[in-house]
Amino acid sequence: MGLSVVVVGGGIGGLFAANALIAHGLDVAVFEQAPALGEVGAGVFLTPNSVRQLKRVGLEPAVEKYGARVGTGSHYFRHDGAPIAPVQVMDAAGWNATFGMHRADLVELLATALPDGVVHTGHRAVGFEQTEDKAKVVFANGASAEADVVVAADGIHSEIRQFVVPPSRPVFHGSVAYRGVLPHRLIPDWPADRWLMWLGKSKHFLTFPVRAGELINYVGFVPADAEMKESWSAPGDPDVLRAEFEGWEGRIGNLLSKVQNTFRWALYDREPLPVWTKGRLTLLGDAAHPMLPHLGQGANQSIEDGMALATILAGTDRAKVSPALHAYDRLRRERVAAVQRGARENGMRLDSHYADLGVRDDEIRAHAEFRKKLYSHDVVPEAQALAMSLV
Ligand SMILES: Cc1cc2nc3c(=O)[nH]c(=O)nc-3n(C[C@H](O)[C@H](O)[C@H](O)COP(=O)(O)OP(=O)(O)OC[C@H]3O[C@@H](n4cnc5c(N)ncnc54)[C@H](O)[C@@H]3O)c2cc1C
Repeated sequence: MGLSVVVVGGGIGGLFAANALIAHGLDVAVFEQAPALGEVGAGVFLTPNSVRQLKRVGLEPAVEKYGARVGTGSHYFRHDGAPIAPVQVMDAAGWNATFGMHRADLVELLATALPDGVVHTGHRAVGFEQTEDKAKVVFANGASAEADVVVAADGIHSEIRQFVVPPSRPVFHGSVAYRGVLPHRLIPDWPADRWLMWLGKSKHFLTFPVRAGELINYVGFVPADAEMKESWSAPGDPDVLRAEFEGWEGRIGNLLSKVQNTFRWALYDREPLPVWTKGRLTLLGDAAHPMLPHLGQGANQSIEDGMALATILAGTDRAKVSPALHAYDRLRRERVAAVQRGARENGMRLDSHYADLGVRDDEIRAHAEFRKKLYSHDVVPEAQALAMSLV
């Protein structure tokens, strides 16, 4: 048996990391604070850079089954419906592995793939300590767990991050997203095979299909002057949402007329951290790098993290845990910081903070090239090279 790893947090990042670590022969336990695994009713967008890694642990068929592949009809429009440009859905090699997924489906497929007994729910981590030889997590229910490595995948409000870096405040970006899903049968004419986005002054509206096209996920981004706690699931008022997009292309109003419940999600990220690792403890996913959703990369980057970590730890012996975790940290921090910055810039563009809706031809081309590069990235070769350098 390889190293033992405790993962704190059973979200998308923690559950994928557990799959990747087990696939590399490590002994893994996941501790999740909630009494049961689950997710709010909203969509998540998977792009080729993470689907490549899901494929490596045998999960591509499940993604194909529960996801909804998004095709080349995907498009940007002005708020009045005038077409702007196609959306980049393929990597540089022309591989289209871009899927809308319901968050609950993604969590379930990641959890179902794990052997029985790996996930322990009802365990809220409240403390952490380590010696030269071991790391230990303490839970609110009085239990504790020891391992060679602890991975904090406990989200934007991470309890464990403070054992790596001093506490800091997340950054509010002055907008909120209303989001939810609608059964496709309520809007049967809505295309169930594409990602569609409308751009207007300080607002944008996005839809993509999830659950094999049975549901359409919508997100309306609007300005907000008051900060609210970063909740993913605070209820929003459907009438306020409808009013925000009044006068936009008619089919948006038609879709919104069917909305009965919606979630309101305040948009926060954090400045890139200077380090993710201390001794036997490292950070992963939103605990390390919460980002704005404007490149749809939060979940995708957490999946890349998990595969990088597993690839590096696979060849590591107990004496080299700390250098191995620092190698993972260095490999991931630079790439993720660029994506965090890119998400901020793209939010500015989408909300028309740039002149002329930010849609000049050269900008469109540059953005498509940026996405192609992002989607073509494979984290494994570099992680393997680092693992070899540690032997
Ligand atoms: C509504 C919404 C839509 C999004 N859409 C997209 C998208 O389209 N594309 C994309 O790439 N990203 C998207 N993201 C971001 C993406 O979901 C996250 O970046 C991604 O899930 C990585 O999360 P994570 O696993 O690191 O953290 P989380 O998903 O926050 O999971 C953290 C887990 O840790 C648990 N936990 C917290 N504290 C403790 C503790 N003390 N002890 C034990 N367990 C604990 C939590 O209960 C949770 O289960 C979206 C996020 C939200 C909220």
